[in-house]
Amino acid sequence: MKKDITKAGKAQLARTQKPSLDFGSAWEYAPSPESTDHVKLQAQYGLFIGGKWKAPKSKKYFATISPSTEQKLAEVADAGAADVDDAVKAARSAYDTYWKKMPGKERAKYIFRIARALQEKAREFAIVETMDGGKPIKESRDLDVPLAAAHFFYHGGWADKLDLAFHGRKVRPLGVAGQIIPWNFPLLMAAWKIAPALAGGNTVVLKPAETTPLSSLMLAQIIEEAELPPGVVNIVTGAGQTGAALASHKDVNKVAFTGSTEIGKLIQRNLAGSGKKLTLELGGKAANIVFADASIDQAVEGIINGIYFNQGHVCCAGSRLLVEESVHDLVVKKLRDRLSTLRVGDPLDKNTDVGAINSREQWERINELVAAGEAEGGERYTAPCKLPSKGFFIAPTFFTGVSMSSRIAREEIFGPVLSIMTFRTAEEAIEKANNTMYGLSAGVWTDKGAKIFWMAQRLKAGVIWGNTFNKFDPSSPFGGYKESGFGREGGRQGLSAYVEVL
Ligand code: ADP
Repeated sequence: MKKDITKAGKAQLARTQKPSLDFGSAWEYAPSPESTDHVKLQAQYGLFIGGKWKAPKSKKYFATISPSTEQKLAEVADAGAADVDDAVKAARSAYDTYWKKMPGKERAKYIFRIARALQEKAREFAIVETMDGGKPIKESRDLDVPLAAAHFFYHGGWADKLDLAFHGRKVRPLGVAGQIIPWNFPLLMAAWKIAPALAGGNTVVLKPAETTPLSSLMLAQIIEEAELPPGVVNIVTGAGQTGAALASHKDVNKVAFTGSTEIGKLIQRNLAGSGKKLTLELGGKAANIVFADASIDQAVEGIINGIYFNQGHVCCAGSRLLVEESVHDLVVKKLRDRLSTLRVGDPLDKNTDVGAINSREQWERINELVAAGEAEGGERYTAPCKLPSKGFFIAPTFFTGVSMSSRIAREEIFGPVLSIMTFRTAEEAIEKANNTMYGLSAGVWTDKGAKIFWMAQRLKAGVIWGNTFNKFDPSSPFGGYKESGFGREGGRQGLSAYVEVL
């Protein structure tokens, strides 16, 4: 760290000594890397089952790497069906022995304890999230970790007021929840799943994604420190097979899945007729709709935030931009200018706007779709930035002249790639925005509040942002329509997925 400060200091000194008249240099920043010295990762992690750390019965481990350096960070257990079975048994026993008998106000104390411990260790969580997932430290520090803590605080508040949450009707917990989460918001997704489950009086087996297991394992450590009764929360790591074993386990009462539409459909088919409760939060292809009367600079910032700041690694990313024809050229010019100022690179650098793509597999998929966009006649613009030689990086890119039928306009890209299309009337904007198999989110940019409401009534999306994008709050339900899944997370609607209303 000392070395980095010196290097940064030298660079700054060099600039003050030689003032430059080249205004391009106004965008050069001295490196500001977050120190990782105090983060102590274990070489190997076991499974967190029944309040204890256990070696997997499968005897298998796999490596989790940093997508920005391609270096191994740690080895994690690859849980087999027997391990998942142990975790579900531990969750069942904890449910019967402690959790379902515990008054809500006592459960709340544990949930608040987790929230506070998350806040206390916020810096370590942010660093580990960025190392393992590749997202900029700015985002994990300012969004993922505080929002994860906020979800625990919010749901802790509901735990002793469940009778008031559903119009005075009594509720009872479901039992054991099996929860499977993806790699784009690893800690936040764990919080979205675990907090309402515990508040509702359920016990949990959670499986993080195979490329981002570390923040969930750190969460297990603070759950251990918070002295939750053993087995109330169990964390099992592994890939698709581990997830499948959990989703199909006969003693799980509720399955909550966030991930691809393909796997979501598979789980839904497998669970048909089982009587298990299911919620699915799947893919998206959000339209960001910019009217000519919008504040264009504000809209451009919203577009950047919606698709580039998290490498497009958001299922609700605004990956389709619908611009009113009369302002198309202006918006494209401003976007082009803004893209050239985005800083792409080391996610641990506090200046970085666009970090690393989460895995080689994802990086290859994005590149394949970009090539398809060009082959299908879209006009490509890629920001002229120098990418690091190691790691999985993609420069922010957009396409103009995109046809509605092209792959980049229809398929979820999950990368920093935007498809731009135009419209002439509000009706046409609605038709184009709804012309997708997904329905997770949308954004509307206009000077007229009434227009936002008019659009919101007609857009088929679970979440609609007006003159903003990608804003989340624990009290605000999030979830989709159509092939984006069903069920909500957050708010009373999210809580209702974890209780039976009597
Ligand atoms: P993505 O394309 O975002 O990686 P996936 O749906 O492949 O989404 O993965 C999301 C989560 O689902 C991960 O934790 C992954 O391990 C898990 N998973 C993958 N295949 C299955 C499956 N057949 N059953 C249950 N979970 C699965």
